[in-house]
Amino acid sequence: MTTRFAVGDVTIHRIVEQEQPLFDPLTFFPGLTPERLAENRGWMEQARALDPKTGQLILCIQSYVVRTPHHTILVDSCVGNGKDRPGRPFWHMKADDAYMRALAAEGLTVEDIDYVMCTHLHVDHVGWNTRLENGRWVPTFPKARYVFARKEYDFWQSEHAREPVPPFADSVLPIVEAQRAELVANDFALGDHIRLESTPGHTPDHVAVRVGRSADRADAVLTGDLIHSPLQARYPEQSMRADHDQAQSARTRRTFLERYCDTGTLCCMAHFPSPSAGRLTRWGDGFRCDPAA
Ligand SMILES: [Zn+2]
Repeated sequence: MTTRFAVGDVTIHRIVEQEQPLFDPLTFFPGLTPERLAENRGWMEQARALDPKTGQLILCIQSYVVRTPHHTILVDSCVGNGKDRPGRPFWHMKADDAYMRALAAEGLTVEDIDYVMCTHLHVDHVGWNTRLENGRWVPTFPKARYVFARKEYDFWQSEHAREPVPPFADSVLPIVEAQRAELVANDFALGDHIRLESTPGHTPDHVAVRVGRSADRADAVLTGDLIHSPLQARYPEQSMRADHDQAQSARTRRTFLERYCDTGTLCCMAHFPSPSAGRLTRWGDGFRCDPAA
């Protein structure tokens, strides 16, 4: 499995927590018809985006670690261990060592991470922000500052005030209470290598992360959940069920895919099957992501 990419003076590592069939495509994509799914089954199975046995979408749950000459930044922190997620059996009270082994396999320890950035505050992007120690949720990465987009944080804070949001309670609030959080604008930059790119729709203040020093062309971009499956590259208007604003998500996706198509920018997709990263080219009215070697 390819887990490492070099772009410019930066190295990007994949830290994979899970890669398996997870969701029924017709439920996951409300607008998807059985006919369109059948039409695309062949190439999706070949790309290991669709499981021939169960018919489910195969999703990768992973972090990307970006090492610049100045910082080591972990983007999105997966599901985590010991989290109470009864609605998702495959994420509920996990107790495996896959994530920590994947980190070690890249030559990294939790101590090495200077910054944790979350593209948004959903359950599979904040989990390893914290781990359980003596019955309390504490920051997993002891030296890291944690970067959250302020409007995203405000949104989930008010949702949580209305009705408890478990991932916010056990994986975001403890970071704020430990005074490790930086609430930033959605154009925040870290040094001259890292810049947030506003990509709303999946959540109200979802961000992608641009990597590279050049102002005109990114060396790489980390998408977060502005896209979930290669099927949405081919059909950018296909939103997924958890998108907060389905129409805005579709617009954001097409704009993003158009912006990076044929640029050579390495697109690091959060949930695409391995190797998850690739370069965008045109495919009819849509796009395809040619997997990086
Ligand atoms: Zn996700």
